[in-house]
Amino acid sequence: MDNTLPSYKSIFDIEYEQWSKLLADQPDYRIKQVWEGLYRGFTLPSELTSLPKSLRERLPEILPQALKVISELKSDNMTTIKWLLELQGSNQIETVLMRYKRRDTVCVSTQAGCAMGCGFCATGQAGFFRQLTSGEIVEQVFIASRRLRALGANQRVSNVVFMGMGEPLANFAPLIRAIEVMNQEFAIGARSFTVSTVGIVPGIRRLAAVPIQVNLAVSLHAANDVLRSSLLPINKTYPISALMGAIYEYKNATNRRVSFEWAMMDGVNDSDKDAKELAELALAAGAHINLIPLNSTPGWPTTGSSLARVNEFAYLLEGLGCNVTVRNTRGAEIAAACGQLANRNHSVGKARRLSTNVTAFSDLAPSE
Ligand code: SAH
Ligand code: SF4
Repeated sequence: MDNTLPSYKSIFDIEYEQWSKLLADQPDYRIKQVWEGLYRGFTLPSELTSLPKSLRERLPEILPQALKVISELKSDNMTTIKWLLELQGSNQIETVLMRYKRRDTVCVSTQAGCAMGCGFCATGQAGFFRQLTSGEIVEQVFIASRRLRALGANQRVSNVVFMGMGEPLANFAPLIRAIEVMNQEFAIGARSFTVSTVGIVPGIRRLAAVPIQVNLAVSLHAANDVLRSSLLPINKTYPISALMGAIYEYKNATNRRVSFEWAMMDGVNDSDKDAKELAELALAAGAHINLIPLNSTPGWPTTGSSLARVNEFAYLLEGLGCNVTVRNTRGAEIAAACGQLANRNHSVGKARRLSTNVTAFSDLAPSE
């Protein structure tokens, strides 16, 4: 066994050839056993009873520790499960499993914290801690897959949305590696991934050039530069015209579905004028619009629009020719907005209390 290899953050950061080095004193078929255990059977090497006991006992010394589950919150009907996970180095991230009749979607984090500073977002309020490795991204889906199996589900994770903590396009290479691994090893189809971005224009361009073509969700939230720059500071660097240019390019290059996310903020971006401005951009980009009421966070006084206003807004947009979904607020009773759980845990020590907030996590397709 070779102990001189680099230290990994996650067991899913170890590539196949590296396993051969790590287990240099083992026959080749053992490598395959370990690999298939992880990627096909969702089994950690320490649990693989087909491995000799002596090897199983030695492995924990050289392998990275698994992401630690700090808490698991379940909605009453078990259709939404949210985990607070601790990384090596003690930062925390969140992962959510959303169960539907015909699909099981996992919402993953790509960074611990986020540097983009969107004031309404709990993750943005907390600031940036560190990038996740591709293995740490994949491991979140592994955890959800194991849980799904334990629930007796007759299907595996079918969709992955990059809508948890962090800005995926600000952690580009690990994001793409994680998509490739999950596509190849977990057999999740390219079209079943959705990358959500605050609007990093060069990142959208780079994503357009990647061979695996995924869905793109753009967190628009405002359709004029004055308002958008006040809500999402990145808009000062990449204003709406530049963003739209990159979106057109993305659509032309990939033919993939693009959606606009619009968190409805009472009195901020929910007027009839906002609907008209949004419709113009959405029609020009051929983008689907997802509406969700803003989930209030401690660091931002604005509240979400009423459900009645959300529905009216959707109706207005439809009247203007747009495709609109009012996203259901999955896990309303368990999950605060993206990053809120981790923040609460930092401040009060334990995240035991159930939240009554609606969640920012939802699925991109119409609710089933
Ligand atoms: N950084 C990426 C992905 C993570 S955020 C992005 O910004 O797109 C995932 C989604 O949650 C984004 O659409 C984001 O705007 C939204 N979001 C963040 N805070 C929210 C809140 N308090 N209420 C509703 N949606 C929120
Ligand atoms: Fe970061 Fe997205 Fe939150 Fe903005 S909305 S701070 S980009 S996670």
